Amino acid sequence: MPGVLYVVAVPIGNLEDITLRARRILGEVDLVACEDTRHTGRLYELLGLARRPMISVHDHNEAERVPGLIQRLEAGESVALVSDAGTPAISDPGFRVVRAVIEAGHTVVPVPGPSAAVTALCAAGLPTDRFRFVGFPPQRKRRAWLEALRRADETLVLYVSPHQLAEFLVEAAEVFGADRPAVVARELTKKFEEFRRAPLGTLAADPGVVRGEVVLLVAGAPPEEAPHGDELEAVVKSLLDEGLPPAKAAREAAKRTGASRDEAYRLAVGLRGAE
Ligand code: SAM
Repeated sequence: MPGVLYVVAVPIGNLEDITLRARRILGEVDLVACEDTRHTGRLYELLGLARRPMISVHDHNEAERVPGLIQRLEAGESVALVSDAGTPAISDPGFRVVRAVIEAGHTVVPVPGPSAAVTALCAAGLPTDRFRFVGFPPQRKRRAWLEALRRADETLVLYVSPHQLAEFLVEAAEVFGADRPAVVARELTKKFEEFRRAPLGTLAADPGVVRGEVVLLVAGAPPEEAPHGDELEAVVKSLLDEGLPPAKAAREAAKRTGASRDEAYRLAVGLRGAE
């Protein structure tokens, strides 16, 4: 019998969030691949489960662990992959193991449960129809990273370490604008769970308690104001009438109206062709 890799989500704070299925599978597997064997050992104790054999799989040894795990699966063993909290492979180790197991032709079975990103999103009160999970902001070139997200029109979901929250909110307010709605979701599912819902500028001015675990959500960019349409066409036309070639007319019209150059150029070429 070929083995199976179960990707098992565990609570992010509240033990009651373990699913019945996750608990059963954790109790049955031949091996548990976890970030920290002591931490996961404690989870077994809290769940009242008899401990299973465990090996550590963390950021620094994930690739090295793959061949051994595949051998165990080939021998027909079942393996549970778990993180310290939440869903494995989501801003946690696991992706490399999952990919390698798939490539080796074994079955990967998700055992869903909590993840801080979705837990925060579902109660934040920001649009949920589309969202972009961007994980932890990078330590370097953070400004450019934020700039690249500025026009994203879906709700952004970020993991921010508590000691960087205050500084990060200031930067985010500068790049996204102080008025952009945002939510700081702290200590989800725990005793001091808190949602602070306010514009980024307000949150930056008062980030609140800077302890505990935090998910930051930022509303997507509002639709671009549309100065285009008729106004753009009128400006392009008058510039063409002044004798400017289409490329120059487009550049100047884009500058005056805030429309994109491409859009202005398409219009200029169309108007010239229609003459
Ligand atoms: N794999 C996990 C998941 O599925 O949510 C995420 C692991 S990541 C290393 C840890 C980050 O998740 C924390 O820094 C925090 O941003 C977020 N997080 C985890 N638990 C949380 C909680 N109870 N409340 C708020 N944020 C939490």
